[in-house]
Amino acid sequence: MALDKSWFTEPVEATGTAFSLKLGEKLHEEQTPYQKIEIFKTESFGYLMTIDGCTMVSTRDNFLYHEMMSHVALNSHPNPKNVVVVGGGDCGTLREVLKHPEVTQATQVEIDERVTRLAEQYFPELCTANDDPRATLFFGDGIQWMKDAAPESIDLIIIDSTDPVGPAEGLFGRRFYLDCIKALKPDGMLVQQSESPLLHLELIKEMHETMRVAGFAQTHLFHFPQPLYPSGWWSGSIASKSSAPLVERLDAAAIAKLDTQYYNAAIHRGAFAVPNYVAKAIGQ
Ligand code: SAM
Repeated sequence: MALDKSWFTEPVEATGTAFSLKLGEKLHEEQTPYQKIEIFKTESFGYLMTIDGCTMVSTRDNFLYHEMMSHVALNSHPNPKNVVVVGGGDCGTLREVLKHPEVTQATQVEIDERVTRLAEQYFPELCTANDDPRATLFFGDGIQWMKDAAPESIDLIIIDSTDPVGPAEGLFGRRFYLDCIKALKPDGMLVQQSESPLLHLELIKEMHETMRVAGFAQTHLFHFPQPLYPSGWWSGSIASKSSAPLVERLDAAAIAKLDTQYYNAAIHRGAFAVPNYVAKAIGQ
């Protein structure tokens, strides 16, 4: 059966794959100076935001991505106080970061203010921490922001960006990583969404190499399910400035307070279990 216009489809030419969702109606469409944003009501995934035709966030499954992009790295760092989210305009990652009482400052640096304004309208549950006194919402280019950041001022940088094309391309490059290393404290870390371990192994390999060449002492891959993104299997990559082993701050009472739907101590440990072919590619 060929899919008609009542389906949203994200075809990925490079990987010969496509993902589809049955639609209710299109609620919004706009071209911003940076990208085309669309909002749909879907039959089974709630609301869906797409950017330039790529799925970004859905009501139903965003908890997987947002919890894993925040808590894994936050609980691998000895004492994360000052956290910066680059991208992440839907505010879901920011909300998860601010569940940690040890975080004293969380800055979201999103290039496109319209992503956040539309998230406030269609995904208000992701924006509930935006008025937390520890939160700052800055609208501008994360690449320039990081160039200007005070040296050794940040504990954790979370790069919650679109794919490495358009405004996000530079967020995957050596020069950006060098600026991150400068801005991080000596025990600082960076975590970045790193696409699918099945479809984008070459990208992951290059990313880890670039991170290490830039000067990060160690890199680690973790992975999780994400039905909305190509192949349904996604990853994050942690790069640490120090060579000290990653800590595991997995105190049961503290984790229970995070009130997560997916993340827990066993998921944290299991997420770092890397399949053989991936370990071989990234030398882990
Ligand atoms: N979870 C999503 C994924 O993996 O596809 C990403 C969601 S989030 C909406 C991605 C955000 O990164 C977008 O809102 C986009 O505007 C932002 N972004 C892209 N390039 C950026 C840059 N150079 N500086 C800051 N934000 C950027």
